[in-house]
Parts: sequence; structure tokens; C-alpha cells
Amino acid sequence: MARERSASLYKEATSLIPGGVNSPVRAFKSVNDIPFYAQRAKGAYLFDVDGNRYLDYVSSWGAIILGHADDGLVDIIKKAVEDGTSYGVCHPYEVEIARLIVDAFPSIELLRLTSSGTEATMSAIRLARAFTKKEGVIKLRGCYHGHVDSLLVKAGSGLATFALPDSSGIPEDLAKHTYIGEFNKIDTIRKIVEEHKDISCLILEPIMGNMGVILPERGFLTDVQEICRQEGILLICDEVITGFRVTYGGAQHVYGIEPDITCLGKIIGGGFAIGAFGGGREIMEKLAPLGDTYQAGTLSGNPIAVRAGAYTLEYLRDHRDRYELMGQRVELLRNEVSRMAEKFAIPYHVNGTTGMFTGFFSKKEVNDYESAAGCRRDLYEKFFKLMLQEGFFFAPSQFEASLLTFCHKEKEITLTLGAYEKIFEIMRAEL
Ligand SMILES: *Cc1c(COP(=O)(O)O)cnc(C)c1O
Repeated sequence: MARERSASLYKEATSLIPGGVNSPVRAFKSVNDIPFYAQRAKGAYLFDVDGNRYLDYVSSWGAIILGHADDGLVDIIKKAVEDGTSYGVCHPYEVEIARLIVDAFPSIELLRLTSSGTEATMSAIRLARAFTKKEGVIKLRGCYHGHVDSLLVKAGSGLATFALPDSSGIPEDLAKHTYIGEFNKIDTIRKIVEEHKDISCLILEPIMGNMGVILPERGFLTDVQEICRQEGILLICDEVITGFRVTYGGAQHVYGIEPDITCLGKIIGGGFAIGAFGGGREIMEKLAPLGDTYQAGTLSGNPIAVRAGAYTLEYLRDHRDRYELMGQRVELLRNEVSRMAEKFAIPYHVNGTTGMFTGFFSKKEVNDYESAAGCRRDLYEKFFKLMLQEGFFFAPSQFEASLLTFCHKEKEITLTLGAYEKIFEIMRAEL
């Protein structure tokens, strides 16, 4: 499969854009490859500038759920554009999408729209600090919440529970207010709250997606919620991926928790730039113009993004059976791929739930940061390149979720399984 035009575009891009990309993961660096350039997308497929077709398991990192260029959505967007692309004043569609989200999430009474998930988590943290009048934040290792200063941190060395900046340009003085716990290890969180009394909030992905898919163990999320309630710590659920993906109402619905603040993004914009954060009235009324916590955005609640989002959410509300189908398809993939891995003696474990899965190249099961970090990245690189060559686009990193749309139907699953069989057989020969 030739990718010449892509290669030449990428070369030019690197002279104009840092690393050639507008978001680092798009550079394919962690699989030692160079990116292809998309020309268009339809349904479950991406088409590149060299005329290649890829079955897409990235789905715009989860922003797409109906499938690319869904006909109904395209019609809505065309109408929306004709009505003007940005107003700078209120419009009816922001009321409509707020109603849809509030109805879907019992934990949300009031919400505010932003232009990205990063802005949503950043604002949620500010709000939690303002509301509790405390400064500490707990995040869990391996969870990603956008490139927010306080959250772009890594675990300190040794027994220290406080964090160090994970990027240059973040003041240590800021990072030191963040404490790092471990997903699926409730004792690490207990220890932090016992030792530190300055904690405003705990933020987590209820299902980890950004370390690859890792599900919460039984009782983990309810235990986290209980600790937070006892200690007066606000629980922030970052459902930017899971929100309308794992079911209508998100992971909090599946696991029976009621976070104080929920962050949303991706799907709720129907492929446009969006984010949202919401929670109980008392907390949310701290926000300006009612309260003293400032937060704003020129394009927040942009009418195109909001109309695309509202269309998407209405569709999801009225077609909940699609989630069940999507869940069954992931389940089928997991079972069949696991069987093949066994047959070809490939060290591979597939974690997954409705709409998302990750195959980890690992001998052991993956259920926390440690076991995910121990995966064979060299094998993933080989897998990624072989799959791409076959016309299947998996995330260019072992530590990402594969994300489905409603256009990933039986036919696509069958094609994918065929590719797995072929690739595992090649990989076995080289193990
Ligand atoms: C993508 C993502 C974000 C950040 O959203 P952006 O729109 O990229 O800023 C935050 N949290 C999670 C869990 C995400 O997956």
C-alpha cells in the first residue's frame, strides 16, 4: 500500500508545524512510523490522499459514534452553517443540548459547555478548588484528562505521593498540589487522604481509556466515592470518552456512582470541538456570573458544534439498542481474538466493554497501571504496521483504546477477525 502523497505532505508539514502535527499522538512516533493524511471519511472507513482505505478503529479518538459523515448529521450541519457559524449570544440549541445531557445524567443538574475536554477538566478542577476552598487534587496514574497543568504530572519517586511535572513548562509549585493514586488500588487513595488534608477533589476516568482500556474492579468506584464523601472531597468523573459511549448515561450509570462533577466531550459535539462539565446546583452556581469562579469561552456553545451534538445525543437517546449491538460486537471480537492468540501462542489480552477495547501484548491480564506498562510495545508496533498495511487503522500506540462506531457492523468485525488471523500467523513466525 503506497503512501507517497502522505509522506510528502508530512515532510512539508514538519517544516511548518512542530513535529508536523497539531496533537502529538498523530505523529505515529510511538510505533516508529509516519502518519497518513486523510482525504475523507465515511461510515467506519477513512480514505487517505493516496487512495487507500482503512477500517478505522480510532474514530477520531472517540469523537465519532454514529460513523463518519452520517447522512442525517451532515444535513443538520449544512442547515446550521447557513444559519451562521457563531453568534456570540445565546441560542436555542444550547438549551436543547443541556436538557439532553441533564436528562441522561442524574448527577448533573447544571452544566456548562466548553470548546474541548481539556477546558472541561481544567474548569472542573478550578471549580472544585473554589467550592471546597482547598488546593490539593488526586489523580490516578495512567488516567489522562487533557493537557491541564495540574493534571499533566507523573508520580514522584519512592514513597512520595505528590506529583512531579510530566512536561516542561509546568511549575513544580503547581504540580506539588497534585497527588497520584493508582487505579484499582483503593489503598493508595486511602493513604493519600489519611496523610493530606488539603484535598479538594479526586479526578478519574471511571473506565480507563488512556492507558488502553482497563475496567474498574468490582467495588472500586463505589469505594472511591465513599472515601470522597467521608472526607469532603469532590469526585470528578472524566467521562470525555465514556460519556455516551459505554451506554446512554455513561460509566457512572453502569457502575452506580453519582460524581459531584462530570466532564464530557468528544461524542457530545458530533465531531466538532466541544467539552462540558456539570454537577449539582450548589457546586455549579459557584461559576460566574452567579458566583466568583471565573470561566468563559468565545466559542463555548458554538451553534454548529451544539446542533451536531444535540442531533447525535437525540439519535443515541432514541436508538439505545445500538449500544447493545455494539457491546455484542466488542464481545465477539474479544472472544475470537483471544482464541486466536491462544492458537498462535501470542501473548495477548483483550480488555473491553461497549464501544471500546484494547488488545494488550502481555502474558498477564492487564488490570492496573503496572500491568499495562509492562506490555510488549515492540509487538504492538509490529501489529500496528501490519494492520495498517492490511487497511486497518488501530491507534498508533499500545496505550490507547480502539473505538467503534455504529457503522462497525458484522461485516467489519468479520474483516477485522480475518486480518487478525493473518497477522497473528505472521507474528508467530517472528516471535
Ligand atoms: C480526550 C480526553 C480529554 C481531553 O479532551 P480534548 O478535547 O482533547 O481536550 C480529557 N479526558 C479524557 C478522558 C480524554 O480521553
